[in-house]
Amino acid sequence: QTRTPLLEVNNIEVIYNHVILVLKGVSLSVPKGAITALLGGNGAGKTTTLKAISNLLHSERGEVTKGSILYQGERVQDLGPAELVKKGVIQVMEGRHCFEHLTVEENLLTGAFTRRDGKAAVQRDLEMVYDYFPRLRERRKSQAGYTSGGEQQMTAIGRALMSRPEMILLDEPSMGLAPQLVEQIFEIVRAVNEQEGVTFLLAEQNTNVALRYAHTGYILESGRVVMEGSAQDLRENPDVKEFYLGMA
Ligand code: ATP
Repeated sequence: QTRTPLLEVNNIEVIYNHVILVLKGVSLSVPKGAITALLGGNGAGKTTTLKAISNLLHSERGEVTKGSILYQGERVQDLGPAELVKKGVIQVMEGRHCFEHLTVEENLLTGAFTRRDGKAAVQRDLEMVYDYFPRLRERRKSQAGYTSGGEQQMTAIGRALMSRPEMILLDEPSMGLAPQLVEQIFEIVRAVNEQEGVTFLLAEQNTNVALRYAHTGYILESGRVVMEGSAQDLRENPDVKEFYLGMA
């Protein structure tokens, strides 16, 4: 794994509705080929940071008012969300967001719609997704809205993989899932990272699990980065232990 930054966020501010300052100068560096965790409690600004990167703030009346966002060294904050997807960056939103009335397989195929490399390649990647998520192979004909929360999270990640991304922004993958399932999802994230070389930036409130799978982490509080470091250093940090891992 190389450690050149794929994504750099330099001192960004985000304001909602022209008045509410939510990010107060956030800087991040996401190394290519690594898993980076964005940690912090409810409302710390994790989702806002991911949406700022993927240019999804406009629909929420939010905007980046300061700072810069560079992907492969190129300023990307003025691009539309679709252009960023073309560059290989895809966001999996919090709350999973499947097309409920489509089957699991149809959901996965929607992830491939911008590709131009032919049906055979798409079919191969469908098999790749099913190899990572055997459960989705079993459920492929089921209507997504009737599958479990864990299966919907798998479908959402699988759909992202179908676009052959270079980087996935993953918002709160553990949300609402039983611990065993959370562990399964993170195992798959690790496998995809190691075997496909996909870079991950994941937002998580579950510090414990995130720091076991991520390589590096950033902790946000009230729109500011208050701590950053390797996952191991963060796990061993007394403040992280006390306030985020409940091991005082
Ligand atoms: P969560 O895990 O709850 O999603 P988070 O760390 O992702 O937390 P954000 O969702 O980024 O936090 O929210 C950061 C702050 O911005 C919160 O105080 C929230 O109330 C505020 N906020 C989020 N979206 C909007 C919006 N569309 N308009 C105004 N304020 C917003």
